[in-house]
Amino acid sequence: MARRKKIYEGKAKTLYEGPEPGTIVQYFKDDATAFNAEKHATIEGKGVLNNMLSEYFMRGLTNLGIPNHFIRRLNMREQLVRACEIVPLEVIVRNYAAGSMAKRLGIEEGMQLPRPVVEYCLKDDKLGDPLVTEEHIAAFGWASQQDMDDILSLALRVNDFLSGVMYGVGIKLVDFKIEIGRVYDGDYQRLIVADEISPDSCRLWDMETGQKLDKDVFRRDLGSLTDAYTEVATRLGVMPKANVPPSKPTLIN
Ligand code: 5GP
Repeated sequence: MARRKKIYEGKAKTLYEGPEPGTIVQYFKDDATAFNAEKHATIEGKGVLNNMLSEYFMRGLTNLGIPNHFIRRLNMREQLVRACEIVPLEVIVRNYAAGSMAKRLGIEEGMQLPRPVVEYCLKDDKLGDPLVTEEHIAAFGWASQQDMDDILSLALRVNDFLSGVMYGVGIKLVDFKIEIGRVYDGDYQRLIVADEISPDSCRLWDMETGQKLDKDVFRRDLGSLTDAYTEVATRLGVMPKANVPPSKPTLIN
């Protein structure tokens, strides 16, 4: 059997050439990294959970007419997505202060923001994904003004959708990061939501207890990441508890 062509290996996913032109197979690994890959572990079952959860969220976006790269899930760890040119920005939307924003501005984690705050970071591992302004984005040509208008609109629509879905299962959407892809339809280009939407790239807090159900569990050593992601998947009905892999993560440093 012919070996498929690997296009890119990232920290949490590997991309392979898809079966049809313009498609990519996105494989979700069990690897977890934090602090620009200084902290690394393999967490059994994480890839399966993120594959299912990202499918669930992307399908929801499609149902609302929010363009995204998802085509179909292939198996427990892989999904077929539309190939796109990734805009070199991480787009972060925050509803409550947490993480780097809380630290940078000296705000207590958990403070509700008066309105969603959108931030942009340059996707550059070597520089640690630094925060950039729209002035930088325009000056260095990472995206045009029209792109930025479209990106802001996409980010806020995703925020409304995700906040509502999570609210429905008793979870507060504190913040999240998305990536945006450029696709070409003939002479026209469009921007779509790409990469993944999963607890790896969101902050999710239980509304009653404040328990963290996202990657901060790994970043801050707060317990089992698999249990946290399984809780999110179970509440959303994405994966019944019985089908979930062992609850104890295997840590390989
Ligand atoms: P912060 O800037 O507070 O570290 O992160 C804000 C939000 O964006 C969090 O939900 C965090 O998980 C997500 N985020 C920021 N940078 C990255 C990244 O490089 N990878 C992933 N998976 N998520 C990120």
